[in-house]
Formats: sequence, structure tokens, C-alpha cells
Amino acid sequence: MRVDLNIAEKEAENSPRVLGILATIKFLIKNGAKVVILSHRSRPKNFDKKLSLKPFAGILSKLLNRKIKFISNFDFQKIKKEIEKSKLDSVFLLENLRFLAGEEKNDIKLAKQLASLGNIYVNDAFAVSHRANSSVVAITKFLPSYAGLLLEKEIKNLSVAMKNPKKPLIVILGGAKISDKIGLIKNFSASRRTASRRKADYFLIGGGIAHNFLLAQGLPIGDSIFEEKTVNFAKKILKNNLVILPVDYAVKNNKILDIGPNTIKLYSDIIKKAETIIWNGPMGYFEDKRFAKGSEAIAKAIINNKKAFSVIGGGETAAIFQTANPKSNIFLSTGGGAMLEYLAGKKLPGIEALK
Ligand code: ADP
Ligand code: MG
Repeated sequence: MRVDLNIAEKEAENSPRVLGILATIKFLIKNGAKVVILSHRSRPKNFDKKLSLKPFAGILSKLLNRKIKFISNFDFQKIKKEIEKSKLDSVFLLENLRFLAGEEKNDIKLAKQLASLGNIYVNDAFAVSHRANSSVVAITKFLPSYAGLLLEKEIKNLSVAMKNPKKPLIVILGGAKISDKIGLIKNFSASRRTASRRKADYFLIGGGIAHNFLLAQGLPIGDSIFEEKTVNFAKKILKNNLVILPVDYAVKNNKILDIGPNTIKLYSDIIKKAETIIWNGPMGYFEDKRFAKGSEAIAKAIINNKKAFSVIGGGETAAIFQTANPKSNIFLSTGGGAMLEYLAGKKLPGIEALK
């Protein structure tokens, strides 16, 4: 079973990525399986003790209230024997697969070795399904392969926003990099090729990506972050008249670091009327509490809209909701890049491989 444990250890126990996979693990155990959990963590070049998955054996063990056997070596024949002699309903966690060069190369030989450890493959790692990795794509060539319950939930919820969103549809975008979000913006801007149903009524822009739009309008941004290459794209997008930009800011040291109170009011009023909301990327430099006000206010406006169906994604953005007691019509996606690619209308290799 491939999962995504690419999260900070201290956040793990409350992380939707960890909590989201428990149901699938329990389901498999209940149905008489031994479960071998596969995951990666970050982007190590080779073995790196700080990026070991070992602590996650303890975390999962606590959450599942059962023993999880951590396997620190990649001697696949030895691992296979150990699994074979274990009793039914045993759960194993393998070491960080990105310690192996083959993982990110979608290596067939590694896939075959991983496949030799089981009879059935389950992908419950939506967050890494946009990557053609060995344990996500190549492995499906060797085993009957299925979607896990979390992956299924992601697709069900995201496809509501994608295929049949109720209007008004509001897309809120922030964060640092507009380049990550171009596909999504295009897909929800309704050109002739996109169904008009998927046309956003408004894009509410905040965070660093707003600066690109300000530059495109010839406005000064001081020393604020921006991406040079995307100014032309921003100019083009502004022509669709769907983009709403901040009207005031929180500034420090000549840098725009958050949206201001009038923007919060403007955006909250629009959010109030929405029937579908998509949000990815914080409204400001929210790691500093002084500049988290914009993101917190947007989260509050979304929570207060009881009729809208909302999908929230991006590691950072979803984290804003963890303490906010989200209601059931808010779906916290476990995908950052994967959610952006799915909502851009791209085919995700990990999902295609299951078909
Ligand atoms: P996500 O992971 O939520 O999809 P990104 O990865 O694109 O979002 O960007 C998140 C980062 O953007 C955060 O670390 C945040 O501090 C940063 N950010 C947002 N607005 C600003 C800003 N005005 N200036 C500097 N950094 C910002
Ligand atoms: Mg990010």
C-alpha cells in the first residue's frame, strides 16, 4: 500500500494525510491482509537519517493501536521471507523509498522488487500521484492494482469542483509561485475549449502571486516577491475580467506580506455568496503570525459559508484549517501539487496507471 507520509513529524498525528490512510489500513487488515506500507519523505539524494520513516512507525502504531514493524533495509528477499512468516494482519512500514535512486526514475527493476512483497497493490497516495515514481506507476505493471479509500475520496470531491460546480464558483489563489497555478487558472477561465460550467465567476488573488498581477498592471511592488517570467501570462489573464486583486496590504520593510483589511472585507463578501469554493495557497507570509490575518480571515469566511461546497488544498493552506474545526462541506485535499494538476485538467500518472 503506497501512502504519502511526506509531512513534518510534529504535524503527523493531526495531518489529513496520516489520518486519511487509517481507514484503508483497517479495511485491509479486517479483510485478512498483511499490509506493507510504502512511502517517501522529502527529496533525499541518498540515505539521510533525518528523513527516515522510522518515527512514522511509532506514530501509525499509536493511531492504529497495533504493532507496526519498521523495516530499515532494502534486502527484498529477506523482507519477503519476513513477511511470509509473519501472522495475518501484520503491518510493516518500509524505509523512505527515495533513499533508492530507482524510485523517482520509475524504475522497472525496483517496481518488480517492491511487487514481490505482495499480491495486491493499493495506491492511497493522492498527493504523489502526479509523479511517475516506481512505487506509484511502474509497480502497477506487476500486481492487480486498486485505489485506496483516501484516493477515492480525493477524486470524488475534486471532481465535483471540476465537473459540476454550483455557481457562483470562486477560485481563491495565493502562495508564492504563480507558475504552479497557471494550469488551474487556465482551466477555470473557460476558453472555447473548456466547458462554460467550469468557468469561475471570480478569482480572488492574494499572497505573492498577486504581485505578478500588480506588475502586469504597471504598479510598483517594492521589494515584494514575484516571478519575472509570468508577467505576460498575468497580463493575458487580466483580460478575462475574472481576476479580483487586493485593494490594500500589510507591508513591512518595503515588502507586501499580507492582504489588508479592506481586501479581507471585499473577499469575504464575495465568498459569502459562493456555492463552490476552491482555495490553494495562503494570502500572505503566514508563517509570521502578524501576516497570517488575511489567510485566517479567508478561512473564517469559508467556514461561515454553510451552503458552499469547498475544496482546500496545498500543504500550507490546508494547515490553516486544522484548528478551525471544519464542517463537512469543506473538503481538505491532501494534495498540493497533485491537486493543482488534477484541477488543471491534467491526467495524473498514478491514477492513469490504475485504470
Ligand atoms: P501552497 O503550498 O499552500 O500551495 P505555495 O507553496 O505556493 O502554497 O506558497 C506558500 C508560501 O507562500 C508560504 O510559505 C507563504 O509564506 C508564502 N507567501 C505567501 N504570500 C507571501 C508574500 N506576500 N510574501 C512572501 N511570501 C509569501
Ligand atoms: Mg507549497
